[in-house]
Amino acid sequence: MKNILLIATGGTIASKPTQQGLAPSITPAELLSSVPEIAEAARVAEVQPFNLDSTNIRPAHWLELARVIEENYAAYDGFVVTHGTDTMAYTAAALSYLIQGSPKPIVLTGSQRSVYLRDTDARRNLADAFFYCADDAAAGVHIVFDGNVILGTRAKKTRTKSFNAFSSIDFPDIAVMRDGKPFYYVREEAPKGPVFYHALDEHVFVLKLIPGLSAEIFDYLDAHCSALVVESFGTGGLPDYGGFTERLERFVRSGRTAVFTTQVEREGSALDKYEVGGRLKGLPRVLEARSMTLEATVAKLMWLLPQCGGDIAERFYAPVCFDIL
Ligand code: ASP
Repeated sequence: MKNILLIATGGTIASKPTQQGLAPSITPAELLSSVPEIAEAARVAEVQPFNLDSTNIRPAHWLELARVIEENYAAYDGFVVTHGTDTMAYTAAALSYLIQGSPKPIVLTGSQRSVYLRDTDARRNLADAFFYCADDAAAGVHIVFDGNVILGTRAKKTRTKSFNAFSSIDFPDIAVMRDGKPFYYVREEAPKGPVFYHALDEHVFVLKLIPGLSAEIFDYLDAHCSALVVESFGTGGLPDYGGFTERLERFVRSGRTAVFTTQVEREGSALDKYEVGGRLKGLPRVLEARSMTLEATVAKLMWLLPQCGGDIAERFYAPVCFDIL
């Protein structure tokens, strides 16, 4: 039987109603007791480093989760992290960079409805997460949700209410859970780690373009951010009006990186397809996210900045867990 550590962090799965709406209050022991089958698959210990709606989870919490996993790495065969769904894809991406090449599975799950309700996806997701975690072939960072196993660098929350809340963007699901067993669609490469990282630079800003946006936002960006992600339209670019190009040029010539990505959910950027993007390609430190999710783009920048400072192009384009194709 596998030894698995449950790391409970809050979220809807652990929430009960308050006068102002749901808030996390259910203990990890209560979570486990709601799914007795888990005890048949694994010996489980629990920790609860924090108990938050995931709207409140920040890069410091990602570092804390990586630290809990590193400190307990030798003692357990795998880790199940229960987490709110709202920022779970960010946490999954961040853990994919902070803990690389893990031969032991690190599985995130949560639910759209609390475990204390009768009509809930919580029990199924929790059971599937433990069953997947107990599988001999499981390794690395994944989200298990609604019967699908999704790579940590590829997940996105794409529905706010339905049980199939997460999608794997531009990459197949790794496996599907059937009767408590994973059926694999993708075999990942043999893990060569684990390698743990301990620093993130959270001064990454995502600028979502809307028609008519003022380039004055760069007054703030110049003063406060280490790297910029521009969530642009379609395959990527910047408006010709309003001095955007000059402000971007000034930003990157100050030694900082700007990564262009797209607001469109699938198929990624192609910055040189149109002149509005192609003319930016000659600028130093202007990169594009290609097929990466926004969540992975943000987390990868936060992970790379403390290691490389401004010149991160080579490391940014080097794939980690199929994050960029
Ligand atoms: N607001 C909740 C959270 O992210 C939503 C959920 O867990 O489904 O913590």
